Amino acid sequence: MTVCGSFDEMIEVNWTKTTALTRAALFQQIHRNLNLFETVWHVNVFCLSKLWYLAQILPLPDKYATVLERAVSFYIWKGYLYKLKKTQLCLPKGKGGLQLIAVKEKCQALITRNILRGQRGESDPMDNDFWERQILPFRSRKSPLPKSIQSLWQLIESYPPELITSDTKQQTKLIYKHIMENNFQSPRITEQFPNQRWHKIWHNIHLANIPTAWQTTVYCYINHIIPTEERKHQHHLTDSSACKTCGYLDTLKHRITNCGTAKTTWDGAKHLLQQIWPTSQLNDKHQTLLLVDPPSENAVFVKVWLAAGFLHYQLTASVHTMEELLKMFATERHKFEQKCNAMNNQNLQQLKSLHL
Ligand SMILES: [Zn+2]
Repeated sequence: MTVCGSFDEMIEVNWTKTTALTRAALFQQIHRNLNLFETVWHVNVFCLSKLWYLAQILPLPDKYATVLERAVSFYIWKGYLYKLKKTQLCLPKGKGGLQLIAVKEKCQALITRNILRGQRGESDPMDNDFWERQILPFRSRKSPLPKSIQSLWQLIESYPPELITSDTKQQTKLIYKHIMENNFQSPRITEQFPNQRWHKIWHNIHLANIPTAWQTTVYCYINHIIPTEERKHQHHLTDSSACKTCGYLDTLKHRITNCGTAKTTWDGAKHLLQQIWPTSQLNDKHQTLLLVDPPSENAVFVKVWLAAGFLHYQLTASVHTMEELLKMFATERHKFEQKCNAMNNQNLQQLKSLHL
């Protein structure tokens, strides 16, 4: 960190440098071939981690928050025609997000926690002294400090008392959660189709040991951001909404159940499901394969695993054959088996009962 004559200058100098470095680091990674789930993980764990140290000490001005968020969004959505809002990606997984860290809010959580600790005299002596001196002008609202700090004080005043007195290692996490909950926006798709069992669907997409490539396709499919000809036509990006393969109206359902060779694998997937779920009705199969939401809880992992793999195959392969689909399933099952090693995993046992 660079120390300067005034607090304002210190904020400017340090955040300019750190923002530029973080942005450069993101752009350096841009050609890595990661899927959406891996990219978000990579951003959370590596790309943003260098910000948190500075964020504890100096407030992040809005203009740098915007630059950083744009860079993150660009990195995550490169190559996508349709995207989801940042507010959705930052939601918890159970609410339709991918738990992407929200830069501005995380920085607010970090610094306000530090201010609170300083106020209680629990930080290191220099910090304590600094915040003690700043608190009086904060309160009189005639603060000579930058606006970004004044707004932090208002933020602290909006915290519930238990958050302010909370004295655990979890405090930053709790503050972050509080800020995020206050800004909560439900995903667009859940507003559009309020009658689905969304909590189940989100939960199933994120089940452990489903390959992230499958999860990525399913997540994009469920959120309707896969560019079908119908969708592109609605947005005046193409002349026709007809499927490029067969000429029918190109919707997601068409691609999954009805388009050219996809019809064979759609029937095949229903048979596979029948194998592990002999009592299932046609509706059960459709709800499982089209919504990743099996209506019965029994052996839910295998059902979701099948549905996710099937959807991934239908939406990414150009020619569909049952042989190839089964081969993909066998390969992924084998990888899962190796990962489990000698451990006795119940999900694996159930998967093994599938005749692929
Ligand atoms: Zn078609």
